[in-house]
This record gives sequence, C-alpha cells and structure tokens, in this order.
Amino acid sequence: EEKQRLQKVIAQAGVASRRAAEKIILDGRVAVNGEIVKELGTKVSRHDEVMVDGVPIDSREKLVYYLLNKPRSVVTTNHDNKDRWTVIDILDDVDARVYPVGRLDYDTTGALILTNDGDLANQLMHPKGRVDKVYTAKVKGIATLEQLAPLKRGIVLKGKKTAPARVAIEKVDRDKKVSFVTITIHEGRNHQVKDMLFAVGFPVEKLRRDRYAFLDLVGLQPGEYRDLKHDEVKRLK
Ligand code: URA
Repeated sequence: EEKQRLQKVIAQAGVASRRAAEKIILDGRVAVNGEIVKELGTKVSRHDEVMVDGVPIDSREKLVYYLLNKPRSVVTTNHDNKDRWTVIDILDDVDARVYPVGRLDYDTTGALILTNDGDLANQLMHPKGRVDKVYTAKVKGIATLEQLAPLKRGIVLKGKKTAPARVAIEKVDRDKKVSFVTITIHEGRNHQVKDMLFAVGFPVEKLRRDRYAFLDLVGLQPGEYRDLKHDEVKRLK
C-alpha cells in the first residue's frame, strides 16, 4: 500500500500548492478519517479519507489532460522498479495524479495522453474504442508493399490474429538498406507494431507514434507536452 505525505496529497488534489497545503494542515483545517491532523509528516494512503474544511479532497480533484511527445529511454509507468526515468517524471510541474493512457515501449517515442480521468482512459484503452494509432517505423531492409500485405489482412501473433492494419511505405533508403513504414492499428497489444513488422521480415530499429486518435505531434519535440484543449477532450469522449 503506497502512502504519501499529507501535504503532497492535498497539493496533488489541486486544493493548494505544497507550501499552502502545509499551512492549511498547521491551521487545523485538515481531517484524516474524521480526526483533525496537524502534523506535516503524516502519511496517508488512497483509502484514507482526507477532508479540507470538511470537504473530501478527492471530489475536488480537477480533471486534467496532457499530450506528451514521449522521448526515448523513458518508461511509461508511474513507478519503475529499476528506478528509470518515467513519463510522470517529465510532467514535473503537474501536481495532479495523472497516469498514461496505454503504453509505449522504453525506446519508442511519440504521442501519449496522460490524464487523471479514469473513465476516459478506460474508454480509450478498451478494444471497442477503436482509436487509431499511427506509427512510423524505421525497419531493417528494403520493404515492399507485397511483403507488408499480410499485415493488411491480419497475422497470427502469440496465437491470436491481429486486426487489419493500414500500411504504407514512406521512404526506402537503398544505400543504408532501411525503410520507413507507416502503420495504423487500433489494438494495443504489447510490442504489437514491432512484432507485426518482425513477423513479415522487417525488424524495427526505431519506432515513433505520430498520432493517437486525431492528436498528432505538431509543435511538440520529444520530451515536450501540452494541455489538451477543451474541444479536443470533448472529441475524445
Ligand atoms: N508497438 C510497439 O511495438 N511498441 C510500442 O511502443 C507501441 C506499439
């Protein structure tokens, strides 16, 4: 069970800054499970009820939505057991308890939504949500549409057929013997794009997600993120 310092929990709920949260605690305005708590070091878990001025803080947490261009060498989890840098670490000025919608591999870059809106996250990750995800893969070898054709019909990966994908060849570099392939899928199985391309003979050297639903990377360098606009959130729902 993960516990966090009370002032941090209050700040993350969007009630006040960390500093202001400390004052609110010292002023005796905070109750944990019905008891006023004035000690700053107090640790609480998700299951403790925290109230500020008699109002539970969770009901005040504002919903926030970000689009990150995930850089390489970052994990897409809230906590990494190998202590590597995570996408949450990148959003350093975000106090809300956001989490990533789905996963990108450690070495994959590109569009990733982070939010504290669990309903939207579940909806987007549900297979029936059918959100298009567009990837550009740099693959070893000279790709031809004929060789990629099985991916359009679906191939069997780990005993289960993949849904039909859209594929296109963007560029072929005959000197370096590499190709750039654009592939659109709406499933989200582990390492799916790499496994699909490998299965038709093209190991992936680099992978970038250019688009998630209608959200592309325009204006975002790797490591940069922005708020989703109100109408973008509405369109996702
Ligand atoms: N498919 C992969 O293989 N890796 C990703 O990060 C995303 C999709």
